[in-house]
Parts: sequence; C-alpha cells; structure tokens
Amino acid sequence: MNSLIVLAYHSINEKPHSDQTAPLSVHPEDFEAQIRYLLSRGYRNIRADELGLKSPSSAITGKRRFLISFDDGYKDNYDVALPILEACGCSALIFLSTNGIENSSTGEQRADQYHTEISIPYMNWDEVRIMEAKGVEFGSHTLSHAHLSSLNSDTLRQEILQSKQLMEERLGHSVEWFCAPYGDYPEIVYYIVRQHYQLSFLTYAYRSVLRSRPDVISRIGVYGHNSLNTFKLKLLRDRLRIV
Ligand SMILES: [Zn+2]
Repeated sequence: MNSLIVLAYHSINEKPHSDQTAPLSVHPEDFEAQIRYLLSRGYRNIRADELGLKSPSSAITGKRRFLISFDDGYKDNYDVALPILEACGCSALIFLSTNGIENSSTGEQRADQYHTEISIPYMNWDEVRIMEAKGVEFGSHTLSHAHLSSLNSDTLRQEILQSKQLMEERLGHSVEWFCAPYGDYPEIVYYIVRQHYQLSFLTYAYRSVLRSRPDVISRIGVYGHNSLNTFKLKLLRDRLRIV
C-alpha cells in the first residue's frame, strides 16, 4: 500500500470549475476541502525535503503523509493558494516553467502560453521569493514547458539544466526537484535529469516504470471538474497502486 500521497495541481481560482474547458483550474473551496479531507483522515502534510534523497520511500514508509505540488508557476498560486495553505498549516512544492516567471518579472508576458485552454498570468520572482520565505519549495518544470521527447539532445539539456541554473541564480541555493511537462519523460530525459536533480515527479506514471526508478515520485492530478468523491476515488486508486 502506498502511504505517501502527492497531489498535482496547476491553477487555483474561482473560474467556473464545472467548465470543462478549464480543467486545470481548481476552485479555492474545492482545494481547501481536499486538503482538509486529508488532514481529517490523519494525513500529515510534508515538505519535499522530508522525502530524503534518491530513495524517498524509506523515509515515509508506513506513515500517512501527503505533499501538495503545483505545476507551471501561476500567479494565483501566490494570490489564492498560499493563504489557503497557510490557513491549513500546509506547505507546497511548485514546479516553475522559468521562461514564464522570467517574462512575468520583466512585464513582457503575463499569461500562460502553453495551456491554451486557460489564460492565467505567471508569478514573478519576487512572489516566488516571498513564497519561499513562507516555506514553499520550488523545483524545475523546464525553461519553456516543452514536449521533451520532441527535442534534440542539446535543446533537451538546455531545458533541463538552464532552468535549474536560472532558479539557483534567482533563489541563491541548489534546486533538487524536477517535473517534466505533460508527463513526457522518456529514458533519455530520465538519464539526464538524474545526473542533476535528486528527485523527479510525474503524474500517473506507469507502475512498471516507477519500480525501476525509485527516484521518480508518482502524483495524483487534481482538476477543476473533480468532485470530492472523485478526489477520494483517486486517492483510493493511488493507495492501491491502480493505474
Ligand atoms: Zn506544466
């Protein structure tokens, strides 16, 4: 049985969450209800740095733990999700597409250019640093949110390494967690990532893949159209390792 739950969100905002065209946005009330449900079931929220290095399972085996992650780096993570996290006494791990954060910081581009079904601005580096001071952790989600399997090896290395270097420059410490956009995580990407990061995270990774990759953490994707019952069902499937 899996006792570590890792949730994967994108945007938390009040856009109509029954709208199937915006499944990446979870309503703030649903987000809070999902966190409080886990807390009420005896799950303790943990930070990624509590997972240990390279073989996280040994650090948390047999304990009810959950980790909250976000992909991309949307501004509403700062404006909307952070106050809810603080109210619940929880932290989060946010994977940044660094071009989005960089452009948002210079005012060149504010809206998501990758997920065309939504148009939500990215946070800037000041907001990233404020969140970090409040205990939120950050990992890399590449430079440009690319489909990694479509890139040649030079571009691939740039996406994986330059995003890490830029984050380390901007934040002043090492960055040890990576998440591939679209769950696009072929062998070559894994090979490069594991040379430069401690752990990587995927949504709905195949169990056969995970068995041979102890440094890859499986996550549960939570979307705007998921009811609390669907959320509970996803937890159960994850717990039973059904994918
Ligand atoms: Zn993404």
